[in-house]
Amino acid sequence: MILGAGIAGMTTALEMTRLGYSCTILEAQTSAGGRVRTIRSGDVVDEIDSMQTCQFDVDDDLYFNAGPSRIAQHHEFLLGYCRDFGVELETFTNDNRGAWLHSPNAFGGQPQVARRLIADTRGGIAELLSTAISQNALDGELTATDKANILAMLQQYGDLDINNNYAATPRAGFPGQENVGSRQRGELLSPRQLQQIVTDFFWEFRLSFSQGFDQQPTMLQPVGGMDRVARAFEAQVVNNIVYQAVVTEIRKTENGARVVYADRFGTPTTMDADYCVVTIPAPVLATIANNFSAAHQAEVAGFQYSSAVRIAFQSPRFWEQDHNIYGGISWTDQDITQIWYPNYGFHRTNGIIIGAYIFDGPSGAAFTGLGPQQRIDTTLAQASNVHAQMTGLAMHGISIAWSKVPFQMGGWGTSDASVLLAADDNIFFAGEHLSLLQGWQEGAIQSAYFAIDGVVDRDVNASLLG
Ligand SMILES: Cc1cc2nc3c(=O)[nH]c(=O)nc-3n(C[C@H](O)[C@H](O)[C@H](O)COP(=O)(O)OP(=O)(O)OC[C@H]3O[C@@H](n4cnc5c(N)ncnc54)[C@H](O)[C@@H]3O)c2cc1C
Repeated sequence: MILGAGIAGMTTALEMTRLGYSCTILEAQTSAGGRVRTIRSGDVVDEIDSMQTCQFDVDDDLYFNAGPSRIAQHHEFLLGYCRDFGVELETFTNDNRGAWLHSPNAFGGQPQVARRLIADTRGGIAELLSTAISQNALDGELTATDKANILAMLQQYGDLDINNNYAATPRAGFPGQENVGSRQRGELLSPRQLQQIVTDFFWEFRLSFSQGFDQQPTMLQPVGGMDRVARAFEAQVVNNIVYQAVVTEIRKTENGARVVYADRFGTPTTMDADYCVVTIPAPVLATIANNFSAAHQAEVAGFQYSSAVRIAFQSPRFWEQDHNIYGGISWTDQDITQIWYPNYGFHRTNGIIIGAYIFDGPSGAAFTGLGPQQRIDTTLAQASNVHAQMTGLAMHGISIAWSKVPFQMGGWGTSDASVLLAADDNIFFAGEHLSLLQGWQEGAIQSAYFAIDGVVDRDVNASLLG
């Protein structure tokens, strides 16, 4: 018996069936996938205190991945299932040099094109290090050959001039297209000083975001929406799933586990099994009656989750037409944190722009506390400081605050798991929160493998002993 038909639960059912086990998944909702949700015209977003209906035009391109959106190139298990299940993939752009970085506290509040800041940062670092080497400050560490090689590399790295100075570089781009009709590209932009760029943490973090192992190019996304992944998994295990089965009680028994759930008519129903794999997110699990050990109960109750919030709008593609931004992410040091441009459907009339993606922290909590219309108003006000066109062009706003979504009650686990990694008698635990890749579907899959190993080991040991 498996509780929850998210990626962890469905992986468990799929692989345990392949191993010869007979499995049933109890799933509270009318479809599988859990957090893997793609919102299209007419879809409803339920939160514990509000309900929104998506007003996007009916169009295959106009979808909003409210949860997972990107897949790292080395998330090999998820990618393997995508290959096996025929889920078509395309490129997801994290790092677009034409997207913008914006802080109200820097450069007069004017958004900066990423390529310029990146070129200036590399140039500034390369010049500083070259100076240190040329002034023999690193002679203790470097031989004469090392120094020559590194100076040559730094010239390329930072686009330094012949004297190892960072002057100006075409890498930073040009001011505009003012030289139409001539053979000149215009003046080079004057470089920003490194000291000016690193005035606060905002730039440091944003400039290196896509260096992270799970965020490096090439990133991928399913064509047509992330729920293609959920639907593909669901097709494999659909006969194992009991939908609209809301688990209300989980008990260890002498030889296995007993679960009580409300069926689709609300009737309490009991199910017994040799093993139970619980993939219900911890904030929900904490509200379900159980007889887990005190240590398991304590870890479930204390498990922290991110308060992720996303807000999407339908809009004419002004970012492409006016600013040559094709996919990727702009960052702002306001609560809304990120603006995402669609990575597909270029040059079509409308697109879905994510006006705010807040991972966690005070901004996440603040936005979670707002009602849907307040979130839209606040997002438009802040996003307009980056793109003035957001006011007027962005419409049909729809938001999701994961801490308020029934059966989820959080974005992703942020605590370190320990007790829940061990079974409580015949009850095993899985879900992204118990993996080393929290907040990733790959983590949900890995957690399922870990639980399956536990069940199989238990059976092998029992048969050896028996
Ligand atoms: C905003 C956001 C962005 C993300 N971005 C990415 C990304 O870019 N790439 C990526 O790979 N991952 C991303 N993730 C993470 C990814 O969505 C999760 O890691 C993964 O989907 C979790 O799967 P799961 O099976 O562990 O949990 P869930 O998907 O939460 O599944 C749990 C299931 O349990 C069910 N359930 C709950 N309570 C009960 C009950 N009482 N009775 C019966 N069933 C119940 C739920 O309905 C649900 O179906 C993101 C998540 C969020 C929220």
